[in-house]
Formats: sequence, structure tokens, C-alpha cells
Amino acid sequence: MKIAVLSGGVGGARFLRGLTSVVDSREMTIIGNVADDLEILGLHVSPDLDSVLYALAGLSDEERGWGRADESWNALATVAELSGDAWFKLGDRDIGLHLVRTQMLSEGATLTEATARLVAAYGLGFELLPATNDPLRTFLETAAGTFPFQTWFVERGHRDEVDAVHYAGAPDATPSPGVVEAIAGAALIVITPSNPYVSIGPILAVSAIRDALAARDAPCVAVSPLIGGQAVKGPADRMLTRLAGGTTPAHVAGCYPGLIDALVYDEADAPAELPQDVRGLVTRTLMSDDGARRRLAQAVLDAGAAVT
Ligand code: GDP
Ligand code: CA
Repeated sequence: MKIAVLSGGVGGARFLRGLTSVVDSREMTIIGNVADDLEILGLHVSPDLDSVLYALAGLSDEERGWGRADESWNALATVAELSGDAWFKLGDRDIGLHLVRTQMLSEGATLTEATARLVAAYGLGFELLPATNDPLRTFLETAAGTFPFQTWFVERGHRDEVDAVHYAGAPDATPSPGVVEAIAGAALIVITPSNPYVSIGPILAVSAIRDALAARDAPCVAVSPLIGGQAVKGPADRMLTRLAGGTTPAHVAGCYPGLIDALVYDEADAPAELPQDVRGLVTRTLMSDDGARRRLAQAVLDAGAAVT
């Protein structure tokens, strides 16, 4: 059964680990967010694609929640000594990957090609596609100014409340090769428990991707990133409160109007009233270990089967 998955970084990657334990990863096409990407220290960094890659290659740091396990920080220490851009935390092992990617891009490869090489090098069976190879970047409008995503998120610690989200480059962005085909050819489409505004939103801001999803034949199942109305980590709850008017499952479903057929949400948020065209499936959604991740992935498959 072919599955297309729209994914952000850490929440998406956690979910995908569960999904690979219940489906053959060769059946999976992961469409990743690239609007968090940045150029720093001459490197092209794709944090969300890398979170997925590291998690599924078994290389991610579970405790920290991002980057690689068994990491060291010598290069960054030198950057700081030299008063370089040390605010974006890049570990030594992580930098190695960025060097390879950046070289490929500078030699003319697309991000699709560079990403495929990394997936193949780690011996992984799934397809990982950047949503687009065109420049697409998230900007956050706040009372303190309008900031690029990583400036708002990392440098300023996402302390500024967000008044609006912009996806620069979206009007001209086209899906990367294979994205529309993966959505159209899937038997199930999944939206991971990722931030609707800054992880899934930019993917859907590419109009041809949104159109392909709206025209789907297969069921689309989303997983809520909130438990008891709160984000497990990060600003998703504060953003929903401010931009959607609340943090119930209905508010999460409202981020994907006409685009999902089912929402899997936590028992801490039940019972919930959902939009008429969205079926609810209640389960425990905290992905604390392998068993919890596998059960959540199975719930998503069940939700898909229930609306087919
Ligand atoms: P980022 O791109 O690295 O910020 O990650 P994502 O956007 O993919 O995921 C961030 C979201 O994951 C946050 O809103 C969290 O609430 C959510 N998340 C993290 N762990 C869990 C979990 O165990 N269960 C659920 N339901 N959501 C989670
Ligand atoms: Ca992200």
C-alpha cells in the first residue's frame, strides 16, 4: 500500500519511526518541509529533512530531540571564538552532512538529488522529497518585527507571539519532482503531528501540492500535535490560540479545511466536536517509546481504513 506523508521535523520524525514499524518503508514517500532551511556559515541546512533522516537512520539524539546522538561541538566552539554565527547549533557530525549537501548544491544538484543521495547512503528504503526545490521560506510577523523562521525560533527562542505567518516564495514555488505523483498515487495520505503553521503550512502553501491534496482519491489522515490542548514541545499551542482561536481538535482540523478525512487525537482532548467532513479517532498520542509510536501509527492506518 503506497503511503504519502507530509512531515515537519521532530514531531514528524517521531511519528515516522512508528510508521516504519507497521508498513514497509519502500512504500513510503515522505514530503518534507523546507521552509525552515537556512544558509549559515556557507552551509545549506535543511533541519526538517535532517530530523527525518537522522530519526529513521537511528542516528538522532532522543534526549535533546534534534540533531545527532554522540555529537561533539568543536567546530561550533571555533566559530564562537572567531565571533562567527554560532547561534544556530550545528554539531560536528551534523556539519559533515551539511558539507556534502552544500557541495552537491553548489555543483548544480537539486535538493531532491542531494537528499536522495543521503537517504541512499544510509541504506534507507523510503523516498524523502523536499516539498519544493524552489526558495520557500517562513517568516513570522510579531510585535517586535518580522523575522525569518530560524531567527524567531532559535535565536529569539520563539518568545515573540505571532500575529501572522508568511511563506516567502510560495506563489512561484512548484512541487519538487514526484511530490504530486506521490499524493495522487497513494492509497493513504498522512499529515504527521507537526506544527500546522510552520511545518505543514509551508508544504500546503505550494498551491499545486494543496490542489493535489484537495483532489485526492485516497483518505487523508492527520495526527494532532497537541495533547490536552498543549504542544508536547514548541509553540504550536500558542500559535493555535492566537491564530485559530483555540487548541481543541476542531481547531487543529480547521488548519486543514477540505484536506483531511480523519483526525487522530489524544484521549485527553476527547470528546471533541469535529467539522462534519472529518472523522475523529481517539487514542493515546504521546510517542514516548517504540510501542507507543507503533500503536499511534496503527491507529492512523485504522483511521484511513475507516474512511475508505
Ligand atoms: P519541528 O519541525 O522540528 O518543529 O517539528 P514538527 O513540526 O514536525 O513537530 C512539532 C510538534 O510535534 C509539536 O507541536 C509537538 O507538540 C508535536 N509532538 C512532539 N512529540 C509528540 C508526541 O509524542 N505526540 C504528539 N501528538 N505530538 C508530538
Ligand atoms: Ca520545522
